[in-house]
Amino acid sequence: MCEMRIKGTRIMHIDKDLFVKIVDSLHDGLYIVDRDRKISYWNRAAEQISGFKADEVVGLHCSDNILTHVDSEGKQLCLDGCPLEKVIQDGKPREVEIYMHHKDGHRVPVSVRVSSLTDHTGKIIGGIELFTDISNQNANSLRVKELEKLALLDPLTQLANRSYMDKMIQIRLEEKKRLKVPFGLFFIDIDFFKNINDEYGHDAGDRVLRYIARTFAVHSRPFDVYGRWGGEEFVGIIRNITVQDLEAFGNRLRMLIERSYISNEGNRLHVTVSIGATMVKDDDIVETLIKRADTLMYESKKAGRNRLTLG
Ligand code: GH3
Ligand code: MG
Ligand code: MG
Repeated sequence: MCEMRIKGTRIMHIDKDLFVKIVDSLHDGLYIVDRDRKISYWNRAAEQISGFKADEVVGLHCSDNILTHVDSEGKQLCLDGCPLEKVIQDGKPREVEIYMHHKDGHRVPVSVRVSSLTDHTGKIIGGIELFTDISNQNANSLRVKELEKLALLDPLTQLANRSYMDKMIQIRLEEKKRLKVPFGLFFIDIDFFKNINDEYGHDAGDRVLRYIARTFAVHSRPFDVYGRWGGEEFVGIIRNITVQDLEAFGNRLRMLIERSYISNEGNRLHVTVSIGATMVKDDDIVETLIKRADTLMYESKKAGRNRLTLG
């Protein structure tokens, strides 16, 4: 049996198996930690959202190289500002939006709610975190199926391929002419990617390409499209956006990639990207638009990499 308490008040005794059944049927990820933030329970949705199975995380501390939450500025919350740590100290529930580390490397945007757990005397004995995946997963999986059917999918990254992106830019250019809907374009190239292949092998390189692609997929709005343009180059079409928002959004992606990593034989592998960002102009054709974004990307490389150049 286990006791259920809300705000210190005992509401019922329920069978432990029933409790597990209820918690595992939630769509929200849920985990429970003790006062030292050691994880004692990890539900099924937490497995799905994070990619980590319960037996990989139960018994570990949440700061032990697992979730490594960052906020929207890229600040690492395990080191400073962990919402679970705060709630264990003062008992005040909190709600925050953060970026969780997925086992495959990319970051998943989640809305997190934390509350304290108390014993029958009201003493805080740990904390509970509920998290909801707020990325655009469903729209993405539909798009992947569509593109696959039409042979417009890049099989390695599950993003659109170059031929789809080429057509999509043409469609957006037409839309811009007729309806005056503005759009922006990112040209994105991984920094020093050859080093990853040389030092850790081609398979590790492929995993890096996949998590970079997942970053774009997970953080895109339903009407934005990202595709693989070439080896380690990607293009994003960002629809109906202002130049300020294009810059801010591109820098957010760049930061999220900088804060992402995969574990490879005990090493954390991570890369950065250089981005060229530009808004469509009235007389643009596909080639001029791509060329401008590509040239801006090279300016980011020349200026030291891991940056975005707007033009
Ligand atoms: P820079 O910062 O100047 O962009 O340096 P870089 O090392 O990223 O640039 P370079 O163009 O020299 O290297 C790109 C590398 O990307 C070389 C190639 O082996 C690798 N690559 C291209 N496609 C794939 C792929 O599908 N899988 C893997 N693992 N590597 C790939
Ligand atoms: Mg390149
Ligand atoms: Mg490169």
